[in-house]
Amino acid sequence: MKPQRPETDAPADADERRAVPPVICYPVAALPPAPMALYQAARAGLDLVAEYLVPPREARCFRVSAGQFFRILSVEGPQVGDLNLWNANDLSERFYSGKTRALHGTHLSTGDRMWSSFPHLRPMATITHDTLDWYGFDASGGSVHDVIGTRCDPYTHNLLSGGGQYHHCCHSNLIRALSAETRRSPVDAERHVHDVLNVFMCTGFTRDTGQYFMKASPVRPGDYLEFFAEIDLLGALSACPGGDCSSEHSSDSAACHPLRVEVLRPGENALDDWRPPAQSAYDRSHGIGPA
Ligand SMILES: [Zn+2]
Repeated sequence: MKPQRPETDAPADADERRAVPPVICYPVAALPPAPMALYQAARAGLDLVAEYLVPPREARCFRVSAGQFFRILSVEGPQVGDLNLWNANDLSERFYSGKTRALHGTHLSTGDRMWSSFPHLRPMATITHDTLDWYGFDASGGSVHDVIGTRCDPYTHNLLSGGGQYHHCCHSNLIRALSAETRRSPVDAERHVHDVLNVFMCTGFTRDTGQYFMKASPVRPGDYLEFFAEIDLLGALSACPGGDCSSEHSSDSAACHPLRVEVLRPGENALDDWRPPAQSAYDRSHGIGPA
């Protein structure tokens, strides 16, 4: 049973200790700036290269070459999407949700970047347009496109539901999609599925208990989130069984809608001044010796 908290009496200087001002962990002003002016110029002349329809409660993979853009669009009705990204040429380099959160905050929008796992730690994609950027943070502390939730999954569902077996959580959807795309067994594919960017999902932490909450997504058909691919990408997008995530996920009870992914190519010469990001320059010796 959870203990009644606090169990410990506050010290005499408790207020003084609490009053210490916060310091931003990672001052992102020190990051090499994303060339947003170049991206904005390039996105003025985009041609559609490919499109994918992600059915409700399913996931689909898609491929985007470095220097192309991709959009995730709401179609038919409010729907949340769970996004995984890999280096198309090396699946061990994948989106690092936790470090992206530490660098850019709990929710992403235009100008923020999706960073890759160690030892690479480079931008995989940069957000170049967000039709929900007007939402900001609401009175509950909620906002859209979070990197705090991990993805709905059958293990947590089983734990909390007393043994439930549900096979269309985003985690399983992403496994099926990656398995089909790369001809890996489900067990092998599962090793590559990772914490997501929750596209269009509206989430936050409750002010009093710090618990993760969700509320109905403000997304409407026609809204989209747009990215610039910094490296060759393999993506997987799941149309969450939670639909707009206004009530529950991990079941078939919510109204669900498809999502569309569009891959777009900028005009010739639009990226003449662009260079793909380099891998981290850390030497990987970790105080031991050469790697
Ligand atoms: Zn989900």
